[in-house]
Parts: sequence; structure tokens; C-alpha cells
Amino acid sequence: MTDTIAAISTALGVGGISIIKVSGKDAIANVNKIFDGKDLTKVDTHTIHYGHIKDKEETLDEVLVSVMKEPRTYTGEDVVEINCHGGITVTKKVLELLLTTGTRMAEPGEFTKRAFLNGKKDLIEAESVMDLIHANSEEARKIAMNQLDGKTSKMIKELREELLTLLASIEVNIDYPEYYDIEVTNNEKIKESIKTLKEKLTNILQESEDGKKIRDGIETVIIGRPNVGKSSLLNKLLKEDKAIVTDIEGTTRDIVEGTINIDGITLNMVDTAGIRKTTDKIEQIGVEKSINLIDEADLVIMLLNNNEELTKEDQELLEKVKDKTHIIAVNKNDLQQNLHINKDEYKNIVSINTIDENGIKELSDKIKELFNFEQIKSKDYTCLTNSRQIGLLKETLDLTDNIKKALKEDMPVDLVEVDIKEIWNKLGEITGDSYDEELIDKLFSQFCLGK
Ligand code: GDP
Repeated sequence: MTDTIAAISTALGVGGISIIKVSGKDAIANVNKIFDGKDLTKVDTHTIHYGHIKDKEETLDEVLVSVMKEPRTYTGEDVVEINCHGGITVTKKVLELLLTTGTRMAEPGEFTKRAFLNGKKDLIEAESVMDLIHANSEEARKIAMNQLDGKTSKMIKELREELLTLLASIEVNIDYPEYYDIEVTNNEKIKESIKTLKEKLTNILQESEDGKKIRDGIETVIIGRPNVGKSSLLNKLLKEDKAIVTDIEGTTRDIVEGTINIDGITLNMVDTAGIRKTTDKIEQIGVEKSINLIDEADLVIMLLNNNEELTKEDQELLEKVKDKTHIIAVNKNDLQQNLHINKDEYKNIVSINTIDENGIKELSDKIKELFNFEQIKSKDYTCLTNSRQIGLLKETLDLTDNIKKALKEDMPVDLVEVDIKEIWNKLGEITGDSYDEELIDKLFSQFCLGK
């Protein structure tokens, strides 16, 4: 990891400036080779210099170059940033020239990976960099920022400290078993500590699952027979929010997607192909896809027609959504009511129509209620957010259950100790205090180039 890397850190396109970031032990010397201005190898750290980038006699660009010497830099290595004029051709030309100086092209996420490996950022902080870049709401930004400035890491590290204290007291117990008094005290103490730990972990998990929803959005599918008004509802919701309907690659035209934002929380909406029994092969694929989407969704909005009786297909679909978080939206309430639905059997029924928007606000309110928006938004956003972190957190909770069981069955304390150590390890994997190299490579390769 001693080589010197470079990449364009700003978005490729036409703009005022573009920044090429260079990091590594030869960053300053290599940029100096193509820089016509002050001798950069002799300047102070954290200074900025005016000059030109020259390919032999030819001037490629007029630039400002920032020189930052390790260790007080993003990567923990010497870093140089070249501020070029923001055009694609000029920036690429400067980068190409730089790559002839013994500097190589950075991999995606490599700057942040180096920051992690050099101890400038722990894993939660490093992962949050991409979350901050991709934050699509104020709430998602707050969560990412709490992670980036170490607030979330501190919470996990404190838990690890408490576990270390507990482990130390167990060690005393194992090393000096002749002191009967200590054993009794410690067993009680372990039980008490594990109970408190479990409460804390459960709390963090709950907040983190909410946090993940804020970060990733609530996966919402709209389902119902053809012509119940699914597209009309989606369009209405999207239009109200002035959101952009996205044409996401890989999805066929029978599934329309878009994103709306209700009170700062994102809903990733999918309008599915009308679900009905069909012999048409293509349509069948669409219908199967729709049914799969129900399984994966966080929220299912099932549409029924106010002016039609429940059909067998409606009933089958209702059965499917019963166990999911769902809303039954009875559409076309401007037409005469022919639908009869048992309100004791089915919950969360909202009456709407997509023509004069009657009931659309009630629908939004129902979504807020189902996902506890008020509660989510009153929290301080110190939580974990990605699947990797939440998966590890769940594993720690399973381990607390093992420990509780073992203590109840009076298992030897050294067996309990193994599980406590495992929790400590797993929390360490969350912060990256212990890590697997392959995982780290995979994780950072998902970053964007130049970060
Ligand atoms: P989809 O096949 O489920 O996506 O249904 P569409 O959104 O294409 O709507 C089917 C038809 O129902 C269209 O002619 C719409 O104009 C009509 N429609 C949708 N919502 C309403 C409503 O609230 N009231 C009335 N009267 N017609 C509606």
C-alpha cells in the first residue's frame, strides 16, 4: 500500500472546477514533476499554490494545487489535490499525464479504504462517507453525519468497553475460584450485565432498523387487479411530490417505479403489473414478478374498486397481503359503492379516489402511522444503517440469548465467557476493529471512483 494513486474526485462533466486527488508517499514529488510553479517538495503542509500543469513545453491547464502532508490528511498519507478547470477533456488530460509519473489510477473507494487501513476512520465512519454522498433526505444526511463524526462508533465502542470490564471480572473469577464469595457475586453480576446489554442492543437494533428505512427508503408496492387505478395512484403520489419517475435498468415496462418523500422519509414505489390469471406468457412473467415483489416489500398498498364486488382474485390477493404491513386502499370512491369488505377482518382500510385526490392525505397519514414516523423523527439518529452492520448486531443479540440460557442452566462460567467474547468480537467487526480483508475489499469496491 505504498504506491501512489490518483483519481478525479469530482463528477465528470462540465463545471467550474474539477479536482484530481492524489495520495501516497510520492504524491507531492509526482505532481511536482508536471507542475510549473513553486517547488512543491519544499512547501509547507496544508498550503495551496498557483501554477500550470505542463507536458514538456505544452501547458495543459492553469491550476491551484493543495499540498497536505501526512498524517493530518483524509487517507493518512501525503495528499495533493489539483484543482483543474472543470472540463472533461482538460481534467482527463492532466490525469493521463499524472499517470506517467509513477502514479497509478485509484480503485473505487481506495482513498477511503486507505483512510480506514491507516486508522483515520473506523469502518462505520468509512461506510458513512458513501451514505452521506447518497443521502436523499435531510434525515438520511443526519444519520450519515452522526456516523461520520464518530457518534455512532462511540456508542458501539462504549459497549465493547463495558464487555471488557465484564470479561475481566470473569477472568478473576476463573483464576481465583477458591474465593467462593467472588463466584456468587460474579454470577449475579453477569446476569445483570447481560440483561442490561441485551436491552441496549435491542434498542440499538430497533433504532437501526428505523435508520435503515430512512437511509434506503420504504420499499412499497402497489398491487391490485388491472384497472383498479394503480398507475393513477402512483402518478398522483409522484406528481404531488414533484418526484421524478425513474426508468430503472433491468425492470420491464410492466413495472413502473418512482420515489416519493413523505415528511422526509423516502418511499420507493413500484406499480406492479395487474395481477390476474393469464395464459399470455409475457404477462405471466409480469404477474409472477409482482407476486415476488409482495414478499420483498416493506409495505403493500392493495387497491380495490369501490364500484365492484370483491372477486375471487381480490380475495386471494388479500390473503397474501394479510401478514405483510399493508394498506387496503378502496379506490374510485366517487363512484357508487358496490364493494363490501369486512372491516373486522381487514385492517388499515382507506377510502380514496385518484381523480379529485379525496383520501390521498389519509393514505399518507396511514403510512406515517404504520411506520411510526413521529417516533423515528424524534430520535437523535445515532444508529447503524446498512445490512452488514445490522446483521452483525442481530448476531450479538442471538448470543445474549445463548448466554442467558447457559446462565439459567448453571453452565460453567468459562463457556459463558466464550459467548461474551464473541459479542465483543462482533461489535468489533461493526466498527472494523477486527476485519476480514476480503470483506474490506468488497465493501470499498462498491464506492465511487475518487472517494
Ligand atoms: P391500473 O390498471 O390498475 O394501473 O389502473 P389505471 O390507473 O390505469 O386506471 C384504470 C382506469 O380507472 C382509468 O380509466 C382511470 O382513469 C380510472 N380511474 C382511476 N382512478 C379512478 C378514480 O378514483 N375514480 C374513477 N372514477 N376512475 C378512476
